[in-house]
Amino acid sequence: MLTSGFAHLFKKKWSLIMSLSSLPPDRKVVLITGASSGIGEATARHLAFQNHQVVLGARRTDRVEAIARDIEAAGGRALARTLDVTSLDSMRAFVEAACQAFGGIDVLINNAGVMPLSFVEDLCIEEWNRMIDVNLRGVLHGIAAVLPLMREQRSGHIINVASVSAHRVDPTAAIYCATKFAVRALSEGLRQESKELRVTVVSPGLTRTELFDGISAQEARLAAQSMVEQASIPPSAVAKAIGFAISQPEDVDVNEVIVRPTRQQ
Ligand code: NDP
Repeated sequence: MLTSGFAHLFKKKWSLIMSLSSLPPDRKVVLITGASSGIGEATARHLAFQNHQVVLGARRTDRVEAIARDIEAAGGRALARTLDVTSLDSMRAFVEAACQAFGGIDVLINNAGVMPLSFVEDLCIEEWNRMIDVNLRGVLHGIAAVLPLMREQRSGHIINVASVSAHRVDPTAAIYCATKFAVRALSEGLRQESKELRVTVVSPGLTRTELFDGISAQEARLAAQSMVEQASIPPSAVAKAIGFAISQPEDVDVNEVIVRPTRQQ
């Protein structure tokens, strides 16, 4: 009787030791905007697989919820929330939900983006404004929502997904490039001002996602889709680059990463 009681106690203690030792010492709470498809979805899955706790946000609630359920079914930790990055209130609620569920925030990935390409002379002003609102103002909202908390805890990591279009300009992409150049500029400014925060810009090249479906100008859409068909990388390639930046020691700040297809110009 005594022996079996001891064995039971030992087994319980052993399983506790095993479960504690299997937790990575640097398990983080990672918020991802635009996690309902493409790079955001791939990043959520990749980071969850690496044992991080992920919080997925996007407007398509059904999609982020399905991805979070998938992650949890595979043994990961995930939370899904409706998020519209163009609203500061929505972004703040997203951050608040993450704090309540996981007790804090270590990393914010500002990934949500849109790319309705067109020639400047076509004056697609509603689309210009949408790109500014999502790609630039959305990133600023993300920064504004987490910065007070990160300053208080004197640590944190902000990762902004820019683009090769933050490094070069092409016809039909003037406004998209302008938003992505701006994201690089503000990231560099934030980095210089933040001695305790890490700031990373990840700039993907052509990546096989839904981004191109949102181009309403037919000529630009066909040209972009044909480029993707010729050379593109899967979103998981970008997710791994993001994972690399997160996995570095706290005193190592990976500031810029460009990941593009080997064959892309
Ligand atoms: P997707 O279209 O697959 O993903 C874009 C994501 O942004 C979706 O999850 C979408 O979710 C979300 N999103 C759009 N508007 C909003 C909003 N107002 N609020 C919250 N979320 C929003 O494209 P990608 O995965 O390719 O794009 C991810 C990032 O990568 C973007 O910033 C893009 O500019 C950048 N990038 C992509 C490249 C590529 O070749 N694919 C190349 C270079 C950069 P929902 O609609 O559900 O809200």
